[in-house]
Amino acid sequence: MGKNPVRIVIYKKYLYRKEDKTMEEKSFIYLDHAATTAARPEVVEAMLPYFTENFGNPSSVYTFSQKNKAVVTECREKIADSLNAKSNEIYFTAGGTESDNWALKAAAEAYASKGNHIITTKIEHHAILHTAKYLESKGFEVTYLDVDENGVVKLDQLRQAIRPETILISVMFANNEIGTIQPIKEIGEIAKKHGILFHTDAVQAYGQIPIDVDECHIDMLSASGHKLNGPKGIGFLYIRTGLKLRNFVHGGAQERSRRAGTENVTGIVGFAKAVEIAFCTMEERSQKECMMRDYLIDRILAEIPYARLNGHRTKRLPNNVNISFQFIEGESLLIMLDMAGICASSGSACTSGSLDPSHVLLAIGLPHEIAHGSLRMTIGDENTMEEMDYVIEQIKEIVTKLRAMSPLYEDFMKHS
Ligand SMILES: *Cc1c(COP(=O)(O)O)cnc(C)c1O
Repeated sequence: MGKNPVRIVIYKKYLYRKEDKTMEEKSFIYLDHAATTAARPEVVEAMLPYFTENFGNPSSVYTFSQKNKAVVTECREKIADSLNAKSNEIYFTAGGTESDNWALKAAAEAYASKGNHIITTKIEHHAILHTAKYLESKGFEVTYLDVDENGVVKLDQLRQAIRPETILISVMFANNEIGTIQPIKEIGEIAKKHGILFHTDAVQAYGQIPIDVDECHIDMLSASGHKLNGPKGIGFLYIRTGLKLRNFVHGGAQERSRRAGTENVTGIVGFAKAVEIAFCTMEERSQKECMMRDYLIDRILAEIPYARLNGHRTKRLPNNVNISFQFIEGESLLIMLDMAGICASSGSACTSGSLDPSHVLLAIGLPHEIAHGSLRMTIGDENTMEEMDYVIEQIKEIVTKLRAMSPLYEDFMKHS
């Protein structure tokens, strides 16, 4: 195989359409890795041949296509190893949302004769919350657990919520907005002790922190490629051996008939490559990201008054910073950061664009007006300390400007 003719471009610049319709190249600092990440050049490189010369359908009998079957098996093994799972427990899907839908709907259906009660939390991703709401419309009862002021599930409340008819507990491994990591092992132990299925949405945690499905007694786990520098449109659901879940997509025999449809070979190859890189660089990456994270948090809190950190200070994803600034509209802050070439978020990408404050920030007890002034920055290993310095200076300037325009702030200063 020759060198690929396709040039893989580093993405620190993008084309921007100016008012006069001409295009201008702008450089930017990307601090929204919880929303999505760029596929690494090695990932794209690994995928390219599977679009073209290695296009075979893994289900076909001839040698040319059987090679792709072997490739898919190899990728499945690599991914299973990363979780201490077996390769026949990994089912490829189109991403985190599909995996979450599958886990909840199939478990609810399979265990409906045992009971109709499901436990989850108030801070889950919408892929879980909206699926839980759907199940409520089908007659299931759902308990949405509170979290403490740091966003951690209260284990006592979990124990008290369990009923004889409880069939499923679904708690996310780490939160996508405030980065808080849950006591997953303890939750798994509680579920196991009561004979209840345990699902975790690990889309944010997978590839960032070590996960062992056996140690944590996890029965089902959702993950997604594009959150760990892999391609979009590929994910998996881990399903523990022996779980009798219904088939999710009916058709051919792919994914042991549970999720039919010709395998996304290209996506699977890219995902496995991204996983391989994520796991062998995890320690080094985590150290680097924690350093940038703590630098951002410490300087912002020290240099900007009336700011607070959301989420747990230490039980936190290495790349997550979430800070609320009083007397500020998060949306205005985002727009001004965008003009300064900084990509950030006010909550989850799904929450941005609506005027409701984030359900996660409300769940940790923030009043509406403070929740509205929140900024999420999620770091990646291509970010640098120089970028952090620039970002801090920009935030200081913008917060000062916005507060100067705020009647609430003016009023507050008069009376303090
Ligand atoms: C991004 C995300 C999802 C959705 O994953 P997709 O692959 O984009 O469908 C689900 N849960 C969490 C926690 C996420 O961050």
